[in-house]
Amino acid sequence: MVSNEELAELLFPEITTTIEDLEKRFPLRQLPEGAQVTRFAPSPTGFLHTGSLFTSMISYLTAKKSGGVYFFRLEDTDTKRTIAGSERDLIDQLAHFGIVADEGFFPEGDKGNYGPYKQSARADIYKAVIKELIKRGRAYPDFCTPEDLDAIRKAQEESKVLPGYYGAYARDRNLSNDERVARIKAGTPWVIRFYSNGDHDRKTKFTDAIRGEIELQDNDTDVVILKSDGLPTYHFAHVVDDHFMRTTMITRGEEWIPSTPIHLDMFRALGWKAPKYAHIPSIMKLDHGNKRKLSKRKDPEAAVSYFLEQGYPTHALLVYLMSIANSNFEEWTIANKSFDLSKFPFSIKKIALEGALFDQDKLNYFSKEIIAKMPLEEEFAQVKAYADAHDEKLSAKIAENPEYVKSILNIEKDRKNPRKDYAKYADIYPLIRFFFDEEYESILAAGLPFKAELSHDLIKAFLNDTKAEMPFGTDESTWFNAIKEIGGKHGYALSNKDYKENPSAYVGSVSDCAELLRVAIVGTNQSPNLHEILEILGKDKTTQRLDKVIASL
Ligand code: GLU
Repeated sequence: MVSNEELAELLFPEITTTIEDLEKRFPLRQLPEGAQVTRFAPSPTGFLHTGSLFTSMISYLTAKKSGGVYFFRLEDTDTKRTIAGSERDLIDQLAHFGIVADEGFFPEGDKGNYGPYKQSARADIYKAVIKELIKRGRAYPDFCTPEDLDAIRKAQEESKVLPGYYGAYARDRNLSNDERVARIKAGTPWVIRFYSNGDHDRKTKFTDAIRGEIELQDNDTDVVILKSDGLPTYHFAHVVDDHFMRTTMITRGEEWIPSTPIHLDMFRALGWKAPKYAHIPSIMKLDHGNKRKLSKRKDPEAAVSYFLEQGYPTHALLVYLMSIANSNFEEWTIANKSFDLSKFPFSIKKIALEGALFDQDKLNYFSKEIIAKMPLEEEFAQVKAYADAHDEKLSAKIAENPEYVKSILNIEKDRKNPRKDYAKYADIYPLIRFFFDEEYESILAAGLPFKAELSHDLIKAFLNDTKAEMPFGTDESTWFNAIKEIGGKHGYALSNKDYKENPSAYVGSVSDCAELLRVAIVGTNQSPNLHEILEILGKDKTTQRLDKVIASL
């Protein structure tokens, strides 16, 4: 009779490493009490999902705030879904958000003593553990073909029992080792399955750091742990990697909750202490009154790249995600007049259980605040970097005259309550294009929205006088008094009080008079502070514009 040892040797003759060797190679980390070791473990399948940024931010902060370690592991065992090179994008995008791992996989090479950090480079580690499980009778080769598995599924459907490879349905679970060896020697393809001792009628309990106690049916499925391509499945790789990388808290998406009993079953079989789990809620979206998960196919905001292309400051997106993570955060920002995430006492326990709804208005609110309060030089640098990458027109204008663009960005900025025009850098160019001559030409050509009741003669006369008499280089109130006076000559009230008392005696109020000038110079009846705009344009440009408007009427 073939022994388990002999079977293990036949399956993995090249593996000489033992679990004991691995325990020595990856010693327990020497960290202060309470320090958490967390990780972000994406699959390189194309792009960084907004939910993944949320999860990685939580992992990162959990480690940093506790004086622990945050590492990055690349889960590339699903070779069919892997998109070559996408790991670099993932790492670059996370770095944009300041989420840089202390150790882990980096395109230029691993950093840290617990690697390799790329699962496809860890095959020998998984096999070493599997070899030992086979010796202990806790794993076995399974020779089922896809057709065999289909037949099992059908039989289960007919008997109305749960699908899966378990109990009596686990066809190859109780083959004799002699039979196994015969099949292996005959070249029958195999995978390795875990031999579960679980009982579906019993419960597995575990404490989730966010959700508290969770009770689920025990696992009794003999899941595949090593695929025919020699790589492990997620379930097994998670258990082995997080054990030997000495992770203390698994921060992962809530979609993994139902699989946790499988993982705990394996930790038990291996005699290892399972780490803590914190299952992070998904970010949801309201769709025709129904809540659903943000979807890669339907929602552009499911991809982090969308926010970068729109020019949301990375800090604004993180702040927004923090407001989802901890519901007391917004209050804290107001009380502390701060968006400094490193100061906020983030708590993983306070993460709301029900998935948060993605709320673009809320993001815009935070983003406007953050852009408005950003020091000019920093804003300018960010806007330039954004424009160079995503906004050709704005980039050209900055290249032509950076100081001019900077002065535009500075309008109503250097004050206690700065103006909040931009939620994202993509908003900027459409709002400031009137500052540029050729854009102004096309605005003028499209027709200026003067009030219909104003006669062209009046507009011309007012603008002519403005051209001659409006002062430049003065403070705002001197300028405004001059405008009032010019308006007065053309039938505008000198004060709002005068106008209110007898509106029919005037062409309009003081603000109507300023609006007339605004429409002529800006092309719309809404803009930031007109005096600042005129000072930036300067006397020559303003005169040219007034001449053009007069000639066009
Ligand atoms: N690669 C898994 C995923 O992308 C990681 C889950 C985990 O963090 O354990 O969903």
